[in-house]
Amino acid sequence: MTAQTRVLVLNSGSSSLKYQLIDMTGPTPGADRPARGIVERIGEPQARGGVPDHAAALRTVGEELAAAGHGLDSPDLLAIGHRAVHGGTRFTEPVLVDDGVLAEMEKLVPLAPLHNPANIAGIRVARELRPDLPQVAVFDTAFHATLPEHAWRYALDTATADAHAIRRYGFHGTSHAYVSRATARLLGRDPADPGDFHVIVLHLGNGASVSAVAGGRCVETSMGMTPLEGLVMGTRSGDLDPAVVFHLAREAGMDTDAIDTLLNKRSGLVGLCGDNDMREIGRRIAEGDERAALAFDVYVHRIRKYVGAYTAVLGRVDALAFTAGVGENSAAVREASLRGLGGLGIELDSVRNAVRGSAPRVVSAPSSRVAVAVVPTDEELEIATQTRDLVRGGGSAPPPPG
Ligand code: AMP
Repeated sequence: MTAQTRVLVLNSGSSSLKYQLIDMTGPTPGADRPARGIVERIGEPQARGGVPDHAAALRTVGEELAAAGHGLDSPDLLAIGHRAVHGGTRFTEPVLVDDGVLAEMEKLVPLAPLHNPANIAGIRVARELRPDLPQVAVFDTAFHATLPEHAWRYALDTATADAHAIRRYGFHGTSHAYVSRATARLLGRDPADPGDFHVIVLHLGNGASVSAVAGGRCVETSMGMTPLEGLVMGTRSGDLDPAVVFHLAREAGMDTDAIDTLLNKRSGLVGLCGDNDMREIGRRIAEGDERAALAFDVYVHRIRKYVGAYTAVLGRVDALAFTAGVGENSAAVREASLRGLGGLGIELDSVRNAVRGSAPRVVSAPSSRVAVAVVPTDEELEIATQTRDLVRGGGSAPPPPG
């Protein structure tokens, strides 16, 4: 019998479907990824490379895998792991998908109307294609389920908040979980048992969020009921006085959908300077562009505020980890965010910080009380690991002797 060693990870977004086939054997599971790719322009069948829906997208994935010699019918597939965005309060751990789970996920659609329907569609089609295979949903909110109530509860009328499931959930949890453990490992701790290790994880991608993790448990995070709260992002405003929304409705005559689009799609870096790509913003700053420079300053100022706040939340910080597209690649953002924070025990080493690389690395000065690290995230590997552990029934226990 062929050993079932591979997990197919599917990440169904509203208009794209990303996949990775990950081999989980060997001393470093995930070192071998026999196939990966992305199907884009879902819902745009008329566009070049476009497909009408998620079912067609997954059929395309199946064809691409088959062409690479790893068809969906392959006997070495152990399971399919799905990225799922919003687990609400119902899903705080990865779950084996059945009809009941799908029905519960449907109920959560109002909390994530853009993301959850795409996730559900991806899971449904995958189950039709391989009904015999375990399908696992890994939720972006799950890692934040350990937030204490004083952190997740908004200071709203409690009855109203509870009636509508209004609370902070947090997102990017798969990344925060992976990076917090990878940072512990980098600094010589046991990631499975990090003791009282305190780390602030800065996930700075097109979406951006920060979390505070104490002893492996997330205690605070910057995204809220939706991914709109917190840091300045590529196209999202992050934190904002909620009265801005009333003002836009009353004074600018904007309706709810228009304000939603403004805050989620036309704000953040793109709203401030017209570009959401930090590389382009860097180029413009080098040419003396003042709008780009201001956008950069607003972006890093928000990060500094969160580093200070989360230092206070944790009381003591052992490490700060930068991850995702901007966090891993922009030495300028890391430098500007942490400049002058020696009083908090944070001292970057400008030479180490400027070195580019793809491996986890320390970029703080030897004298820095807080270790600053750049730790590439790997959400697919985290999903594959959680999927394997769930399917194998609790994980990586050593094989029996003999
Ligand atoms: P992610 O969502 O993690 O894929 O991050 C995407 C973002 O990372 C892009 O929008 C860019 O702003 C940023 N990014 C990617 N590569 C670089 C780079 N070399 N330097 C600065 N920013 C980068």
